[in-house]
Amino acid sequence: MGFGMSWFKRENGDYESGPGPEPDNGDGGGKKVRTEGLWTKCPGCRVTIFKAELEANLHVCPKCQHHFKIGARQRIDLLLEPGYELVDGGLRSTDPLNFTDVKPYKQRLRKAQEQTGLSDAIQNALGRMGPHEVVLSAMEYAFIGGSMGAVVGETIARAVDRARDTRKPLIVVAASGGARMMEGVVSLMQMAKISTALAQLDDAKVPYICVLTDPTTGGVTASFAMLGDLNIAEPGALIGFAGPRVIEQTIRQKLPEGFQRSEFLLEKGFLDAVVHRKDLKAYLVRALEFLKAPAAA
Ligand SMILES: [Zn+2]
Repeated sequence: MGFGMSWFKRENGDYESGPGPEPDNGDGGGKKVRTEGLWTKCPGCRVTIFKAELEANLHVCPKCQHHFKIGARQRIDLLLEPGYELVDGGLRSTDPLNFTDVKPYKQRLRKAQEQTGLSDAIQNALGRMGPHEVVLSAMEYAFIGGSMGAVVGETIARAVDRARDTRKPLIVVAASGGARMMEGVVSLMQMAKISTALAQLDDAKVPYICVLTDPTTGGVTASFAMLGDLNIAEPGALIGFAGPRVIEQTIRQKLPEGFQRSEFLLEKGFLDAVVHRKDLKAYLVRALEFLKAPAAA
């Protein structure tokens, strides 16, 4: 494998399959033969866990409470009552730069679309969270590292507009490696676009809660992920702008233990709460009751 490849690798290989050519049967439904089987190893405590047990436990390690990444659809199922409506799907990147690195961006998009069943790294939904009608936007890390290009930006902007037009609270679940470099400056523009829409939502006094999950970094942290009326995180999530390695190399200092993890950021006042996945929905329902309560006359 070429050295330059390391740029695109993710620790758990979510969307890059490592060295070697990969057979593609072209029908999009072909399951890849992998050796993972029924067990998985927890990166938190190294214990081997039965996958069905992990699933039954909301993808949280029963031993050490490590929160595994979950997909956008799983997240929506977890937070909304059955009968929700998926909206704003079908937008697709136009690959404005005709970008190619080790492989064409168009090819990466196609593969991610096949693997996740989504058209990009996000899914919007309308539905009820407990008694509250909400607009929910959930990011998908398995889609090119949850990176934010024009489609993610536009999809979140639409969620914000829906929340403002209907006066329903907005919940965004962030999971992102940051801006999508294959779209260059177009991806950076999304930060301004979403921040502007959120400012209008704020003016309209419609609540916005951001849930930061592992990882929430780069341009996503630098824009909408830190702009909620409440910014809450799952335990142990990596949250930051630049990665710890880059910062260490820049300042030539060792970073403190737990730097850029949820608990550290809560202690330093960057977050309002750290909430376990099993308590997340109940917490959000209570927070919405509080935020929606009319001001005392
Ligand atoms: Zn564990």
